[in-house]
Amino acid sequence: MEWGGSHYGDVLMRYLFTNRFGGVSEGAFSSLNLALHVNDDSLHVNANREILRKQMGVRAVVFMEQVHGDRIVRIEEEGQTPMCDAMITNQKEIALAVMVADCMPILFYDKTYEAIGVAHAGREGSRLGIGVKCLEAMEKAFGTRASEVQIFIGPSIGACCYEIGKEVSEGFDGFLHVKNERLFLDLQAYNYKAFLDQGVLPEHLNVSPLCTCCHESYFSYRREKITGRFAGVICL
Ligand SMILES: [Zn+2]
Repeated sequence: MEWGGSHYGDVLMRYLFTNRFGGVSEGAFSSLNLALHVNDDSLHVNANREILRKQMGVRAVVFMEQVHGDRIVRIEEEGQTPMCDAMITNQKEIALAVMVADCMPILFYDKTYEAIGVAHAGREGSRLGIGVKCLEAMEKAFGTRASEVQIFIGPSIGACCYEIGKEVSEGFDGFLHVKNERLFLDLQAYNYKAFLDQGVLPEHLNVSPLCTCCHESYFSYRREKITGRFAGVICL
């Protein structure tokens, strides 16, 4: 596990990005696969989710049924798996999780109003502005200010590996790189700029430099096709 945990004032916030190690899944899902929808043994996945819950030290971890959309759900209690691509809460003891294998896992922390959020931003989600919309939902629900929110973006596919077709490149002008007549998308830069434009401070924007497709410590759909999902997780 790669841990990032911090105390801010008298408020405890914890977050982490898992990698593929430390779980019980086998084969292509070895070993800390957290996704039930990829045809892994559900007993293994649930055991892995329990490992994660204990690691976070919370009552429950809430996952999403992610659909590459821009729906955001406010979580008031555990025991649900909403169909959405972002969640927000100010409940303690309930961790929010976003699963990925190349897409960007984005975590939000508002120290002032004690609120958190998670967002799943792949190409479609980014185009829909899921990150900024999640921040706006926190503003509306909790009073979160863009100038104060801290954002943590975990490992995701980098411009080094993220080749896309011209037909899906619309809207990403300025964030495309051409190499040997092939098109590569810099999703991290696209989202970084979107947050800056929203008023998030650069010193509050923490972006992992790790590309999931380059680093085999992480599940990568692009590299492996049949594979598991790792997660970004945050709790108050
Ligand atoms: Zn790469």
